[in-house]
Amino acid sequence: SGDKERANNVAKIKVVVRKRPLNKKEIAKKEEDIITIQPHSNYLTVHETKLKVDLTEYVERHEFVFDAVLNEDVTNEEVYSETVEPIVPLIFHRTKATCFAYGQTGSGKTYTMQPLPLKASHDILRLMHQMHRSQGFQLYVSFFEIYGGKVFDLLNDRKKLCMREDGKQQVCIVGLQEYRVSNVDTIRELIEKGNATRSTGTTGANEESSRSHAILQLAIKRSADGSDSKLARLVGKLSFIDLAGSERGADTTDNDKQTRMEGAEINKSLLALKECIRALDNDQGHIPFRGSKLTEVLRDSFVGDSRTVMISCISPSSGSCEHTINTLRYADRVK
Ligand code: ADP
Ligand code: MG
Repeated sequence: SGDKERANNVAKIKVVVRKRPLNKKEIAKKEEDIITIQPHSNYLTVHETKLKVDLTEYVERHEFVFDAVLNEDVTNEEVYSETVEPIVPLIFHRTKATCFAYGQTGSGKTYTMQPLPLKASHDILRLMHQMHRSQGFQLYVSFFEIYGGKVFDLLNDRKKLCMREDGKQQVCIVGLQEYRVSNVDTIRELIEKGNATRSTGTTGANEESSRSHAILQLAIKRSADGSDSKLARLVGKLSFIDLAGSERGADTTDNDKQTRMEGAEINKSLLALKECIRALDNDQGHIPFRGSKLTEVLRDSFVGDSRTVMISCISPSSGSCEHTINTLRYADRVK
């Protein structure tokens, strides 16, 4: 059928890089844009300035190729069309899809990620009204974060939650709030509520949120009688993951014990995530979910007909060169 063909045409794993513009701070510090992207191409060059032994400067070029490379003038709308939009119809056909934003703190993960679930739910609701009218489809939203290896419900006052594995090796988060939604306004309110809950840390929003993974899930369910009953069965799922700042994984030698433990946990989860995506790509039977809380939570999204989109966010600035190369190498390994 047409649906099946379309499903086969959407890559199982897609790796996209998004470069943000230089910001005022970087311009004030006279930092330069060291990233070049040929228009309408999918390759990118990092121009790294290095010093020779005699202290003269030279530039080393690092070339990368990805499924798509998005320049600083690309809008959030275009990011959506490039990444999530093609996947949306598939989740009515049992597909589970996951979209990650990866990169150092300040590289644009949240800026990139925040509009995506809203645009997706707009399209999901439209499809539900058009082609799936009266077929009993329902849309549910949940939003939680993983901080220091623990799960907190962002739609329920950051209540700490536990995970449980049932006999069929399905993992579920016990007591996670799921809201059934039927219009975009309600979804927007829930997302805002979750974001506000996420950023109540004492040291400021970006500081705190850079140490946690935020996971927003849109689930399509179906019940025979169209009611809100517990009998509604999961059809497909779309997860949006704003990952912890990639540089936080290196906080493993910090003097503060708490920071060090969080750094180790983040490092472990980002490595486990990379391994899981690589295993998916190689169609290996065994996927190493158990490497971290993050990958355990995502387990059911990695089995069966799955799609993964990794959006790697980078700063263009010379001051972020090392982090940028690390981010691109990570993305390159996932690809
Ligand atoms: P992160 O979540 O990775 O820490 P943010 O998404 O908070 O980073 O982005 C840091 C800052 O840069 C924010 O003020 C954000 O508005 C701005 N920014 C990020 N990406 C872009 C972009 N593509 N265009 C314009 N501003 C951006
Ligand atoms: Mg952020």
